[in-house]
Amino acid sequence: MPIKVLAPELVSKIAAGEVVERPASVVKELVENSLDAGASQISVEVQSGGIGLIKVSDNGAGIPTSEVELAFHRYATSKISNLADLEGISSLGFRGEALPSISAVAEVEIFTRNKSEAIGSYMYLRKGNVARRESRSRPQGTTITVHRLFRYFPARLKFLKSVNTENSHIAHVVSQYALAFPEVRFSLLLDKHLSFNTAGNGELRDVINQLYGLEVAQKMLKVTGTNTYLQVSGLVSPPSLARSNRSYLSFFINQRWVRSPLLTRATEDAYHGLLMVGKHPMAIINIPLPAEEVDVNVHPTKAQVKFLHGQWVFASVEEAIKSVLSKTPLATTKVVPFATTSWQKIASLPSQRQGMISDSEPTFVTPLPNERLPVLRVVGQLANTYIVAEGPDGLYLIDQHAAHERILYERILARWSQKEVEVQGLLQPITIELSPREEETLKANEGILAQFGFAIEFFGTRSYLIRTVPALMTKANLVETLSEVLDNLASKENPSPWEEKIAASLACHSAIRAGQQLSNDEIRELIKQLEGIHQPRTCPHGRPTMIHLSSHQLEKEFGRIS
Ligand code: ADP
Ligand code: MG
Repeated sequence: MPIKVLAPELVSKIAAGEVVERPASVVKELVENSLDAGASQISVEVQSGGIGLIKVSDNGAGIPTSEVELAFHRYATSKISNLADLEGISSLGFRGEALPSISAVAEVEIFTRNKSEAIGSYMYLRKGNVARRESRSRPQGTTITVHRLFRYFPARLKFLKSVNTENSHIAHVVSQYALAFPEVRFSLLLDKHLSFNTAGNGELRDVINQLYGLEVAQKMLKVTGTNTYLQVSGLVSPPSLARSNRSYLSFFINQRWVRSPLLTRATEDAYHGLLMVGKHPMAIINIPLPAEEVDVNVHPTKAQVKFLHGQWVFASVEEAIKSVLSKTPLATTKVVPFATTSWQKIASLPSQRQGMISDSEPTFVTPLPNERLPVLRVVGQLANTYIVAEGPDGLYLIDQHAAHERILYERILARWSQKEVEVQGLLQPITIELSPREEETLKANEGILAQFGFAIEFFGTRSYLIRTVPALMTKANLVETLSEVLDNLASKENPSPWEEKIAASLACHSAIRAGQQLSNDEIRELIKQLEGIHQPRTCPHGRPTMIHLSSHQLEKEFGRIS
């Protein structure tokens, strides 16, 4: 085919593909526009996961009648006009691509009134072209309604997930902006029911209360790190509030929500040694940075940024969080004094690198194949955390929590597959408050949760009544466990099938803890059960449950043989 310049319609569809990946991307762009317009109130309404309808209304500056049509042209923007503006960008948008992209893949209605005009304008666009236009009155602000998203793009539609999953992405996006702008009142309606609203009083803790509940709001610690380079502010969780995925980490650069591996790493490093492996902190961090220190124009959806001095940003964030954590009593954390970090590092490395790393590790630390255990003789318990046992070929050092977790995991899955799940009814139902995202996860997984013994009923706005739970759960950790089950179900980092995710969370929460003293009978029972299961040597998260020191290795270590 000869080279030719593509027709504008085709170009806009290609561009739209980058900007509008899924309904939540539309919501993100529209909310950003409302924020750029200085709105103090933004309401988002969604139907059928955004495929039916997305409506974003604000009380911002509005668009002058003469510019309404122009707003839908590619690269038409009121936010920058020259290169210097681009380099000193302070608005969320600047590429002039969102409205044209959205109108290329959906039908769009806009109804707006600019602050300097007496009457507003209404316009309907189909396939990117104006189908209707008229003057109408309305208060100052803008409402954009998107219908039939991807209707004519079966390929995109095919990639979308269930309504609840798309809703959960949308809830996540709106939550992030609510966290970034506590001074703005947000509300989110999903299929006519209120997912959340915020007060808009400027208090981050109040937003957290709305999104994550009162307990989290009260426990979060204030970060106020100031060093010569930058000022990090926000709230982070004490180690006792850890979650099982990273979706509670929110980073904002000049109130722009960004996904940044660098900031994630800096935050998690600050918690080093304070959280169990597989647990992640919660953090809402805002970093004001001079425009020349950060490049926001590296990604079509502006979700990623580049720092000029990444290492300073990294160090400042880590230091600021470390400094708050160092002032917190750690009594409530469940970390054992000698967590097996070096082990986990090895286990998670690709095999060709293991040799390299294990040079600095004791020579006997070698991963074990997954096979059944021989009969073991219990020697005793170490640090109330490890069980020492002897087998036909040497010594076994067993992590009691990880081992019990594996036993329960296999048992839960076996019962589930035989449809023999044991359920306990609660004499008094327990009420649980869910975050918007958790609520959508719950709705998406109601059926499978019921198969594991959870009977959960809708009670009121994001409130649910738990009536029955799996038999092995105790009342004490019920809310925490359910919240972890939901986290785990929503986690993209854990690609396992749903039933495995649920079983893993239940097993983890019900298993005996590190630091718990066990009687000899209890230890023997645990070992007996461990001998009977299929994969006794790794926990459900893939970490080792035990270290085996063979007789041969022992003799070598003691120099009995060379
Ligand atoms: P960008 O945000 O990158 O400028 P958009 O395509 O998102 O590009 O929007 C184009 C223009 O339309 C914006 O520059 C702004 O002037 C105007 N606009 C869009 N949404 C709103 C809104 N909610 N309120 C006021 N003006 C808006
Ligand atoms: Mg925009």
